[in-house]
Amino acid sequence: MRTDDTTPGRRRLLAGWGRANPTAATVRDVEPDELAAAVKDLPARGGIARGLGRSYGDPAQNAGGHVLRLAPANDHVAIDDDAGTVTAGGGVGIDDLLAILVPRGWFVPVTPGTRFVTIGGAIASDIHGKNHHREGSFGNHVTRLRLMLADGTVVDLAPEPAPGNDHELFWATVGGMGLTGVIVDATFRLIPIETSRMSVETHRLGHLDDVMDRMVESDADFRYSVAWIDLLARGKHLGRGVLTNGEHAVPDQLSPTAASDPLAYDGRQLVAVPPVVPPTGVINRLSVTAFNEVWYRRARTGRHVGVESIPAYFHPLDLVGGWNRVYGRSGFLQYQFVVPFGAEAVLRTVIERISAARLPIFLTVLKRFGAGNRGPLSFPMGGWTLAIDVATDRSGLAPLLRSLDDLVLGAGGRHYLTKDFHMTPADVRRGYPRLDEWRAVRDRVDPGGAWASDLSRRLELTD
Ligand SMILES: Cc1cc2nc3c(=O)[nH]c(=O)nc-3n(C[C@H](O)[C@H](O)[C@H](O)COP(=O)(O)OP(=O)(O)OC[C@H]3O[C@@H](n4cnc5c(N)ncnc54)[C@H](O)[C@@H]3O)c2cc1C
Repeated sequence: MRTDDTTPGRRRLLAGWGRANPTAATVRDVEPDELAAAVKDLPARGGIARGLGRSYGDPAQNAGGHVLRLAPANDHVAIDDDAGTVTAGGGVGIDDLLAILVPRGWFVPVTPGTRFVTIGGAIASDIHGKNHHREGSFGNHVTRLRLMLADGTVVDLAPEPAPGNDHELFWATVGGMGLTGVIVDATFRLIPIETSRMSVETHRLGHLDDVMDRMVESDADFRYSVAWIDLLARGKHLGRGVLTNGEHAVPDQLSPTAASDPLAYDGRQLVAVPPVVPPTGVINRLSVTAFNEVWYRRARTGRHVGVESIPAYFHPLDLVGGWNRVYGRSGFLQYQFVVPFGAEAVLRTVIERISAARLPIFLTVLKRFGAGNRGPLSFPMGGWTLAIDVATDRSGLAPLLRSLDDLVLGAGGRHYLTKDFHMTPADVRRGYPRLDEWRAVRDRVDPGGAWASDLSRRLELTD
């Protein structure tokens, strides 16, 4: 069934959100009813699904092969208000979904730091949000998904073992980086909301210990929790940061004007927060030091409670279009890892090493994950996760990251595949001890290796 690459589609250079390491593939935009034909046309280099390209690394690239972009098909959204679930096509974006759901009093179960991800991308990466400590990752909320296999057939999958249900394939697809097939559509549970606003409690904290202690104390009391850390701070200020805890606001918390239409939602609105990239657009130590100081001081000392819009609280980076270009031509990477609870000393050492390296890093996110799920390649596990954005052309970056890798993997931690640029196959084996279990399922449903990506070849996830 495999052919040489003579099928229709445009040959294009593609990169991830980090803009590093672009490669050329034949890109095919496919409507749902064209998908089976596109799958049958895959060349020897195979194919991979691509959503909105918001993964930082190379999981949605396939050098020399095909990349299948599923049409947004927003008419493929069906809300079940009684069950509190929605069924949406794999190419539907969370951005479009929120515009439909929020005015009806529903919110997605998990959102990442950008609205511009698809449902297929959310499940394939098993994304986490600021509520992981309470509610787990996206896959925890999926009750059913339909997957197109390499032979063009579609299977219906659910998470629980049941006669006729391939639950192993369900969990191999959650976090499976598109390597088990194309997610055609999925049904998942929603969060009921009374308003489209967030009640946000902000704490400015002077040292890493304060940040971590406060997170431990407050996580159980809040649905959403995240801390920004100033990685240029040193000495007694090492790891100073701003913790924001959030809840969906109730009508009583709204101003009289806002309360007149409590579920009003405008994803396009440019809310009045300072842009969350250094305003000069130049990423160097001076500009980032200045930015970090402003960002830190912007949070009032002690505890502060306010009301924010959904975009301002969850998706502030979306307010700055194309912000990924400020890192220059060679692009940037996001280094994200998790270490289990009990490895707090390792987290501290990592932060000390990054701080000592004086890298201009403004985007840092520290969170506490709750328990992981059954997906063998799902990233989250109970512990602390840190994510940092850094330009790829910084001298000394590679040896620094290697030294951090050793610490993370030595502590029983792992790195997030969807953000990865630099891991080795051995690192993945160490971080994901259930890799062989995942491979067995994948080999069963794709014995010919139809699904392939730059990530899968680089990390030897598949043969
Ligand atoms: C600003 C920003 C903030 C972010 N914050 C977070 C965060 O807080 N938490 C988090 O977990 N992630 C975060 N991410 C990462 C992002 O959520 C994931 O990379 C997500 O998978 C991107 O979705 P996408 O639709 O753009 O998929 P793509 O990047 O296009 O693809 C990602 C993976 O999904 C697969 N895929 C896409 N569609 C399908 C489909 N229909 N069927 C099968 N496989 C498919 C691809 O093959 C690929 O392996 C962030 C990214 C950015 C840019």
